[in-house]
Amino acid sequence: MKKPHVNIPVFIPHLGCPNMCVFCNQRAISGVSSFLPETAKNTIDCVLSTVREGTDCEIAFFGGSFTGIDRTLMTGLLDLAQSYADAGRVSGIRMSTRPDYIDPEILEILKRYTISAVELGIQSFSENVLSSCRRGHSSEQSRRAMTMLREAGIPAVGQMMIGLPGSAPDDEIACAEEICRLGACGCRIYPTIVFRDTELHRMTVQGMYHPLTLDEAVERSAAVLDVFVRHGVPCLRIGLCESENLHSDASYYAGPNHPSLGELVSGELYYRRICAALDRDPPAKGRVLTIKVPRGDISMAVGQKRKNKLRIEIKYSVKSVKFIEKDNFPRYNIEINKNGEETACI
Ligand code: SF4
Repeated sequence: MKKPHVNIPVFIPHLGCPNMCVFCNQRAISGVSSFLPETAKNTIDCVLSTVREGTDCEIAFFGGSFTGIDRTLMTGLLDLAQSYADAGRVSGIRMSTRPDYIDPEILEILKRYTISAVELGIQSFSENVLSSCRRGHSSEQSRRAMTMLREAGIPAVGQMMIGLPGSAPDDEIACAEEICRLGACGCRIYPTIVFRDTELHRMTVQGMYHPLTLDEAVERSAAVLDVFVRHGVPCLRIGLCESENLHSDASYYAGPNHPSLGELVSGELYYRRICAALDRDPPAKGRVLTIKVPRGDISMAVGQKRKNKLRIEIKYSVKSVKFIEKDNFPRYNIEINKNGEETACI
């Protein structure tokens, strides 16, 4: 059985990042506005003291551009994290950074440590979107960084955003396809949130940017998740981590912020897959559909407030839809039995 996994987050807010992407307020996202290196050890020890034996732990330097911080601080933090890896207390180290902060010198440093993954903030491969967001790097730099990491044998996770200024659904599908093509070992999908005191906040107030509604974010994220699922690239997270700031009016201004965003997106993907199977091979009106889904996923497949079940019943004029769980069935696979008719599988 797969071990439970815990990332021990050590937030490095905005350190090393001279940029000001229009959507970024790292203090709001991480809940940390300054960083004292000596607190990293306390943070790690504190989390390790609470995890159950047998849990796979990684130390995760998140929140800023880790490979852009002062070299002495960066290697000091890596040395600290490596001491836990050497003692067998964590399985590895992961970090988030910008694509333009990956170069041969950084790779030589990283190769000395047990790096589980470098998470690259790619956000989009559209030059128009990157420039509208003032990212300060090109799509070519993202491609180069992913390629350099792959060639150095360091797993790369592609982080991308949904609903950025200037971004259309097709840009987001293309971004997901490119992340897969470049050999990512995982992805994260972040629908855009408008935080106060950011350029995006100003753009929103002035009517130059319109945040996605929750439904739009769910639909566009599901389309992107479908790409990753089809390519076998695991999705590590959808939406920002829960933190006080996401619920505080002092930081959060607008955008698709929901505590179960990941579940909503997964539910939407189940709905899309069920519809695709039924569109290919429509059921006769008035039938009873039985849909098998992987064990543990039934609430997502049925949808919040039985949304998917009701939508399917109406759309295909069937008498009822019953969901049942199936063991040893890969996530997002479905099997449909149409009241004695043939079975459709995905
Ligand atoms: S690169 Fe990352 S940390 Fe820097 S401003 Fe942009 S989002 Fe924020």
